Amino acid sequence: MNDSASCLAPTAEPASLSADEARQWMFSAIAAVSGQEMVPLRSALGRVLASALIAPYDVPAYDNSAMDGYAVRGESLGGSQSVVLSVVGAAFAGKPFSGFVGPGQAVRIMTGAVLPAGADTVLLQEVVQVDGKTLIVPPGQRAGQNIRRAGEDLARGAVALAAGKRIGPAELGLMASLGLAEVAVRRRLRVAILATGDELAAVGAPLSPGELYDSNRYTLHGLLSRLGAEVIDIGSVADEPVALADKLREAATMADAIITTGGVSVGEADHVRPVLAGLGEIHFWNLNIRPGRPMAFGRIGQAWLFGLPGNPVAVMVNYVQFVLDALLRLSGVDPLPPRPLLSVVSAGPIRKQPGARAYLRGVVSLVDGCWLVSTSSPRGAGILRSMSEANCLIVLPEACAGVEAGECVQVQMFDGLF
Ligand code: AMP
Ligand code: MG
Repeated sequence: MNDSASCLAPTAEPASLSADEARQWMFSAIAAVSGQEMVPLRSALGRVLASALIAPYDVPAYDNSAMDGYAVRGESLGGSQSVVLSVVGAAFAGKPFSGFVGPGQAVRIMTGAVLPAGADTVLLQEVVQVDGKTLIVPPGQRAGQNIRRAGEDLARGAVALAAGKRIGPAELGLMASLGLAEVAVRRRLRVAILATGDELAAVGAPLSPGELYDSNRYTLHGLLSRLGAEVIDIGSVADEPVALADKLREAATMADAIITTGGVSVGEADHVRPVLAGLGEIHFWNLNIRPGRPMAFGRIGQAWLFGLPGNPVAVMVNYVQFVLDALLRLSGVDPLPPRPLLSVVSAGPIRKQPGARAYLRGVVSLVDGCWLVSTSSPRGAGILRSMSEANCLIVLPEACAGVEAGECVQVQMFDGLF
């Protein structure tokens, strides 16, 4: 796979790469990890199906009633005339009627009960009149109505879930409806995280002058835990080549992917670049986006490397725009989920120069019956509070030269991303 990274990843630097191009490069270079395991159904939440699930039988397994009412033969209905039928029994969910519904007969039936032999139609209890064992059916009832057909949810032999499907609550229920107690899933991803920077202090320790607490590893811990990855926290390391190389080598032996923060911007911590490049095949990208412009992508041994900028907002933006889907692909998700952008009216003007694609933290909220988006203030790319206040990213295209209040902008909602 080192070869695929080298032929796929663009090396041209400092030529700037669009977000779309960078995503394409990554996704075409990365293939799913091999390895799978059987897990009990509940533990499969968030995991990726290793192979297609073929329905072993029909769901539902038998024709049954969609409503509470009366099971009859369509031919017994009177068309435009009302008709009188006689009630000969009852069918409950789990307690079928063992007899036969003949012409002129009806069986009281509950939702989910097996459709009795002879019947092909269910009349809603609200539309008929009952008098003892006598049923008066009004005109206008249709033969075949209110029936759930065997196999209409899942047909026996059909693909119920494709390989590569990420298992959510609906898939858990669907697999349970097929009676499955365990399922084959791809193995969990192991993702190592490492913060770099001379200025970093560990939480819980006192802060010396010029230091700041390392928050990125906690943000990443949250993002990766939500993804369902096994997080290997390598800690933080100073901007010091030998120590950095040691940490990265160690990480590469343990992880499928390594995420670093800091030290990828030109000039500020340049000595980090030769270290990364010397350890594996790493490409430094100059992305045409704000924030999150500098990013490294490549491989050290068997581990993919994502070198994110140190700026806490850029960490989240780059994770969501690039790393998230790259890790999904690595974990075997196929196809990758679409990432829809929604059009929402901007509550106020937004300043922007044409050039780079901008990701601004936004708050979509209901104002006088209209959903509007406003930028979460303040705008500074290092201000993590803006990320906490936001519920979306406002995505302004490269050519955008600012937005007027009342104009539509595109937003990417956080729901479902992390
Ligand atoms: P860098 O990309 O290394 O130039 O880092 C840019 C800025 O991001 C630094 O000046 C810090 O303010 C901030 N930063 C870097 N690493 C971290 C971290 N682990 N946690 C919080 N902030 C960080
Ligand atoms: Mg730094």
